[in-house]
Amino acid sequence: MMINYEFWFVIGSQHLYGEEVINQVREHGKIMVERLNESDKLPWKVKLVDVGTTSDEITNIVEEANYDKSCAGIMTWMHTFSPSKMWIRGFTRLNKPYLHMNTQFNREIPWDKIDMDFMNLNQSAHGDREHGFIATRLRMPRKIVVGYWRDEDFQEKVGNWMRSAIGVMESRNLKVARFGDNMREVAVTEGDKVEAQIKLGWAINYYPVGDLVGYIYDVKEKDIDKQIEMYKEKYDIVTDNIDSVRYQAKIEIGMRKFLEEGNFGAFTTTFEDLYGLKQLPGLAIQRLMEDGYGFGAEGDWKTAALDHIMKTMAKGLNKGSSFMEDYTYHLERDNALILGAHMLEVSPSIADARPTVQVHKLGIGGKEDPARLVFNGKEGDIILASLVDLGGRMRLIVNDAVAVKPLKDMPNLPVARAMWKPLPDLETSAEAWILAGGSHHSVMSYDLNADHMRDFAELLGIEFIHINENTDIKELKKEFMYNDIAWKLGV
Ligand code: MN
Repeated sequence: MMINYEFWFVIGSQHLYGEEVINQVREHGKIMVERLNESDKLPWKVKLVDVGTTSDEITNIVEEANYDKSCAGIMTWMHTFSPSKMWIRGFTRLNKPYLHMNTQFNREIPWDKIDMDFMNLNQSAHGDREHGFIATRLRMPRKIVVGYWRDEDFQEKVGNWMRSAIGVMESRNLKVARFGDNMREVAVTEGDKVEAQIKLGWAINYYPVGDLVGYIYDVKEKDIDKQIEMYKEKYDIVTDNIDSVRYQAKIEIGMRKFLEEGNFGAFTTTFEDLYGLKQLPGLAIQRLMEDGYGFGAEGDWKTAALDHIMKTMAKGLNKGSSFMEDYTYHLERDNALILGAHMLEVSPSIADARPTVQVHKLGIGGKEDPARLVFNGKEGDIILASLVDLGGRMRLIVNDAVAVKPLKDMPNLPVARAMWKPLPDLETSAEAWILAGGSHHSVMSYDLNADHMRDFAELLGIEFIHINENTDIKELKKEFMYNDIAWKLGV
C-alpha cells in the first residue's frame, strides 16, 4: 500500500514589512492551497505549512519535512522577499524533492490602485529571484514552475512534478526480489546493485526459486477454484487445458503471498532457473504486473524496479504500462514499426480488448505448456524507458513513440504483443537507442511522458537521455560526449 503522501507548501517572507503583511501572505497562502487542492491536475494534496520568515523557522520546517514519512516534497514561493541566506541551513539538509513556484497571488497589475504597499506585498518577481539563486549556488536539483497559479498549464506542471517526486519517494523504499540470477552471458541486464541502492534506494536481493516453489506447493485447491472463477469474469478462457491454467493460478497465489510477506514492489524470474516449477510463469506474472508489481524477465532487476516505480508515478491515470521487449521489425518503407512482446510476460493493463487465456507450447525453458493472456496493445502516445549501468553511472533513456494497431492479424503468434512507431522514425530512434546503450527490455507507459522521467532522473542525480521527434544523431553524439566528461569530472 502506498503512503497517503502530501506536499508541503512553504511561503518565504521576512519581518521587514510588519505582522500585517505576513498575515496577509498567510491568508493568500490558504486560498491558494484550497484552490490548488480542488484542481484535478494535482494528483496529490498540498498542505500549507507556514510562512518562513527566519533561518530558525525555515530549518525547523525542513527538519520536520525530512522526518515526516508522508511528506513527499516541499514547494516554495516568495510572496514578498525572503533573504536567501536564511534558507542555507535548511536547504543544505533537505532530503525531500523540491519545487520552486514563481507565481503571484494576483494575475494582473491593478493599474489604478497600485502603490508602494502593493509593490512590497506582491514582489514575487523580485523575491523568487533571490530565492532561486541560493538553490543554484547549492546545486540543488529542483523544478521551477512559472506562471499564474490558477492556470491549468501551471497546475499541470506542478502535478507532473508531483508524480516525479512520488517516484523518488517510492524508489527509496523499493524492495526487489530476484528469483534466480541474470540470464547467463547477458550484459545489459547486469549492473551494480550496491550503486543502485546508494543512488536510487533499491534493495535488490536474491531468493532461491526453491523458496518460491514452497509457497506455490502450499496453495490450496479451493483457492485455485476461486481464482479460476475470477479469471472467467475478466478473460475468455479459450483452451481445454484447464490444468495448465490452474497451475498458473497456483503460481500467482504463491508468488503474491511471497511478495506480500516480504513487502516487495518488484521481482524478476529467469527461464534458466525454474527448478521445481512445471511451467514458466506467464499468466501469473501478467496478472501481478496488472496489480502494480514491477517485473523484469531474465533477472532484469533494473527494468523490474523501473516498471514498479513508473506505476506508482502514474497512480490514478490507469491507461496502462508494461514490461516490454523490442522483438522484431516491420521495415516497410515510410511505415517502419516495432513489434514488441516477450515470451509471455506482457501486462494486460495495455490490452485493447478483453484478453483471452490460451495454452501453447513454449520452446524456451523446457517446461510444460504455459497458460498466458493473449491480446494486442492499444493505440496511443507512449514512452519506452530503459535504465542501464554504464559503469560509474546509471543512464535513463526515454523514447517517445506512438502505439498503433498491428497492421494485420497474426494467427500463429499466441502471445501478447504491441506495435509502435518510435519517434522521430524507426531508423533514427533505433540508432539513438543503440548508441545510448538502451536495453532490449523497457517499460512501456501510456500514462507518463518524458517530463515525468526527466525530473525523476534529475532528483536522483542520474543521467537522462530523451529520444524524441527532434532527435538529431549528430547533436545526440555531442550530448553523450559532454555527459561523459561531466560524469568523469563529477560535476
Ligand atoms: Mn527478454
